[in-house]
Amino acid sequence: MTGDYAAPETAVALHEGRGGVPVLQLDQVSKVYPGESPVLALDQVSFTIRQGELVAIVGPSGSGKSTLLHLMGTLDRPTTGTIRLLGEDVAELSDGELAGLRATTIGFVFQQFFLAEYSTVLENVADGLLYAGVPRSKRRALAAEALDRVGLSHRASFKPGKLSGGERQRVAIARALVGRPAILLADEPTGNLDSNNGASIFQLLKDLNAEGATIAIITHDRDLANRLPRRIEVLDGHIIADTTDEGRLS
Ligand code: ADP
Repeated sequence: MTGDYAAPETAVALHEGRGGVPVLQLDQVSKVYPGESPVLALDQVSFTIRQGELVAIVGPSGSGKSTLLHLMGTLDRPTTGTIRLLGEDVAELSDGELAGLRATTIGFVFQQFFLAEYSTVLENVADGLLYAGVPRSKRRALAAEALDRVGLSHRASFKPGKLSGGERQRVAIARALVGRPAILLADEPTGNLDSNNGASIFQLLKDLNAEGATIAIITHDRDLANRLPRRIEVLDGHIIADTTDEGRLS
């Protein structure tokens, strides 16, 4: 069985765990923020995330997680090192080409949801396809499917202001997944939620992964990270451990 939310071209590799197709490959990636006293925010970071994985990127504040998220999401470019997205070296793409690749391969979920308050829930989710070249009617049909998957069909015509925090994050997750991205990058996805809503969003992400979605969750929350099958631990711009339930990767 392949999951609904697998990227179709690589669905064959689903459930092969660490043997799956590489989605994101970071090789010796460093990032320096220039300035009077330049900051080395990431220092020679290497790891590969493969299709079907559910990974925590975990570390305390200031460790380099946001920098890493920006680089993994191709929103920023490394100072040195190589980042490959579905095998493409992103350094070889123009900003326009990279934006196109990003729009069709990466779904983002943020702590603050970032929903359009004056659009309906369905429209918010359909907007996830705006840059993917999908016609409007098809966007709405796919959005309805994605809403069903996150258990929110009954809220399709609501405005976000009428929803609970947990429901708002479900909308954001549906919007991120509607284009069937190769990877979902979730930045502190439960950080703005009470414990019940946080637990249900955490379970939703696990369910989506069980159906084939490749997911990286960026978090400072070690307890949450410990409940995921792989943990990449960041400290002072370094990866200090990369562990799966089967053992240590580095
Ligand atoms: P985290 O997300 O784990 O809190 P960050 O990636 O935001 O960590 O920060 C890593 C380091 O880089 C910190 O020392 C931070 O102060 C520094 N930093 C982050 N963004 C910038 C920036 N735009 N300019 C200069 N320094 C930055």
